[in-house]
Amino acid sequence: MDMGAAVLAASGLLAAVAEIASCPLSSLADEQLLEVVRVAERARRQLEALDATLIAELEARNLPGRLVLRGPAQLLSGLLNLSPTESAARVRQARELAPRSTLTGDRLPPLLPATAAARAAGTITAKHAEVIIRTMDRLRAARLPVPDQTEAEAFLVEQARTFNATILTGIARQLIDTLDPDGRLADEQSHQHRRFLSCVPGEDGMHRLTADLDPETAALAMTVLHALAAPKPSTAGDRDERSAGQRLHDAFRSVLKLALRAGELPASGGIPATVLITMTADQFETGTGLAHTSYGQKLSVDQALRLADQAAIGWIVHNSTGGILNYGTTRRTATDKQTLALIARDQGCAFPGCADPPEWTEKHHITAWRHGGATDLDNLCLLCDFHHDRIDTGGWSITMAGDVPWFVPPAWVDPEQKPQRNVRPAGAPMVGRSTDPPPT
Ligand SMILES: [Zn+2]
Repeated sequence: MDMGAAVLAASGLLAAVAEIASCPLSSLADEQLLEVVRVAERARRQLEALDATLIAELEARNLPGRLVLRGPAQLLSGLLNLSPTESAARVRQARELAPRSTLTGDRLPPLLPATAAARAAGTITAKHAEVIIRTMDRLRAARLPVPDQTEAEAFLVEQARTFNATILTGIARQLIDTLDPDGRLADEQSHQHRRFLSCVPGEDGMHRLTADLDPETAALAMTVLHALAAPKPSTAGDRDERSAGQRLHDAFRSVLKLALRAGELPASGGIPATVLITMTADQFETGTGLAHTSYGQKLSVDQALRLADQAAIGWIVHNSTGGILNYGTTRRTATDKQTLALIARDQGCAFPGCADPPEWTEKHHITAWRHGGATDLDNLCLLCDFHHDRIDTGGWSITMAGDVPWFVPPAWVDPEQKPQRNVRPAGAPMVGRSTDPPPT
């Protein structure tokens, strides 16, 4: 093959695809149509396998390094407009499935030769290959003898020809159980190697958190989250309306807020860890629109101001040309003395029937500071994250009587709208509701 042959063949490939696309498919017999579908899939798989060889060549000639890039994944991301996750997955497959070369230029077979051959023949998909690579990774970490590894790989490739990737995952799990009945695979080294967490923004403002937690982290997460995920008295006067998944989500948020409030996070950029929120003067005054965080999330101005009630939240109000009109972190935050006084008075979340202790509460401005409410004891009460979120939208109002906060339910919860207050017998975590009339 001359030097330009690969380039020529690649453009021939495009021509062939264009020709198939322009064929009048409606004239094909069913069997012919199925044949085209089969061949197109096989070509797709073979092209993906070719990727691995191409990426290996990029690495072998150190192209990423010469372009002053961190690695082949970054090169692919830039060149082909791929997401970092996508390019990292391709590089990973390439490292397992492409022929390798030594420092002296000798060619070595791929790490997973049977998988590489099946990929090149187009008989298994990229998802199959991912399952096999992950499984072989675990078998290597368990120091399974090499001949057994070879046999395991051949077995998985054989199964992949018959079963889809989901079923193959189950087969792989059984294989691991068989080869490792006493759980050597569950050793720390393998866990440490596979631990992972990411949080990726979606198109609609939601973020997808994905994680492989090692057993210790999972134990901590479950202990902390489940402790905080218990149902809470609803502001609608009936059962907690949240699903189990929603309660775990809210528990996770509470943990993060606690970490911020504790003030022990390492500084970044010379200032303590701070959620920085930006909004316009107009948004600030009307309380409508979307504020932005420095990580790009959009929050309603209402949510942002509620967050700004807490420590470690910085906020910036700017005018239409981007000039800064107002900024701060302290003005709305209660002092340490005030916090102690609030803990002594409310002993935890002040919402009737809520058992959350002081550590899990936030300071709520009864009259919002945006509406002139002061950061004074008689305008503050402790509320847990859950009740803080719902107190304004749930139709409840809070009045101070006898220097303690009383909660007035909306008429649809209690037609008589009798004020209630949280009752905590001294020294006991037990709570109840009291509707004794407030002192006047
Ligand atoms: Zn509460």
